[in-house]
Amino acid sequence: MQFETRCVHVGVNKDSTYNSCITPIYPSSTFQWDDLETTKGFDYTRSGNPTRQALEQNLAALEGGIDCRATATGMAAITSALHLFKPGDHIIAGNDIYGGTYRLFADVYSDMGYKFSFVPMTDLDAIRSAVTDETKGIWIETPSNPLLNVTDISAVTGIAREIGATTVADNTFLSPYLQRPMEHGVDVVIHSTTKYLNGHSDVVGGCVITSQEDHAERISFVVNALGVSCSPFDAWLVLRGVKTLGPRMEAHQRGAMALARMLAEHPRVERVYFPGLPDHPHHELAKRQQGGFGAMLSFDIQGGREAVERALTRTKLFQLAESLGGVESLVAYPVVMSHATMSEEARQAAGISESTIRVSVGIENPDDLVADMHQALDA
Ligand SMILES: *Cc1c(COP(=O)(O)O)cnc(C)c1O
Repeated sequence: MQFETRCVHVGVNKDSTYNSCITPIYPSSTFQWDDLETTKGFDYTRSGNPTRQALEQNLAALEGGIDCRATATGMAAITSALHLFKPGDHIIAGNDIYGGTYRLFADVYSDMGYKFSFVPMTDLDAIRSAVTDETKGIWIETPSNPLLNVTDISAVTGIAREIGATTVADNTFLSPYLQRPMEHGVDVVIHSTTKYLNGHSDVVGGCVITSQEDHAERISFVVNALGVSCSPFDAWLVLRGVKTLGPRMEAHQRGAMALARMLAEHPRVERVYFPGLPDHPHHELAKRQQGGFGAMLSFDIQGGREAVERALTRTKLFQLAESLGGVESLVAYPVVMSHATMSEEARQAAGISESTIRVSVGIENPDDLVADMHQALDA
């Protein structure tokens, strides 16, 4: 089956009682046993649920993994993946990763004895020099947030193999429609399903997809033990969202390309960060590694914070809000929103400035989006 067909059909656990064409929601918290040895495969919803399992089968098939666990949020997926490691282990991560991931690493797991180095992941020498005897993991997020730096996944998994480290990739920004990290040697893929996989800004969720039996077993154990599994209702919504992933990503990308081209020409825009533009430093790598350029972009505007505020309060279609990956276009200001918990120093090191605006391009008509951003910048 081709990708779009898998989106619609894999894991769709139909109800044989009424021959429904879609997966029903089984909100039941518990399931009756036939006798002391026999269940119909489920006993308690924290540990397993038919609706959630349908989503898990679907997502594992889309990423090319052997198993998937759907979690309550993206952060729950990241927390679960961290349990593939233990205190004393050293993990190398990008210095411009998602703000919430940075906070979890720097302010929660560091206190518990995990060790982290935050390096520019586009610099393979920086990764190599960060390696210690304790390095057990490399955390990949590409393209990065909010500056859309593209990491060479195969090169990084090559380094990881040399040192016997496990690689985890956060594939939230592109979705498996545009990038499948396991094809480049990544061991574990996580998602915030809140974003493109669900795609309709009406659920928070996450997932961990594994490619090896030992990782699959550990993640399954940890998600149940921590109690971070996805609710049946939320799983059902994400499963519905995933069915249109392919066509939605195509529409998202059309808008993003049109907007990036307009911004690149606009006199008030200093710099556009979008791998789809030929002058982006990682354009060729993105072309090679990704199935498309995605629909996240950032840009620096002249005039600093005041100019940013003026533009962001004048857009009519782009809503000023956190998050991304929904059908509606959003604009965000990383300094006070997604990256507020990063220190000023850490932000500067990552290149996130007072002038940086991040855009999640929705699936509205590109002409409307371009016109709206134009009028907001011209105001
Ligand atoms: C949103 C996001 C997360 C966190 O997911 P939640 O569902 O908000 O918990 C992690 N990584 C990336 C890249 C994200 O965009």
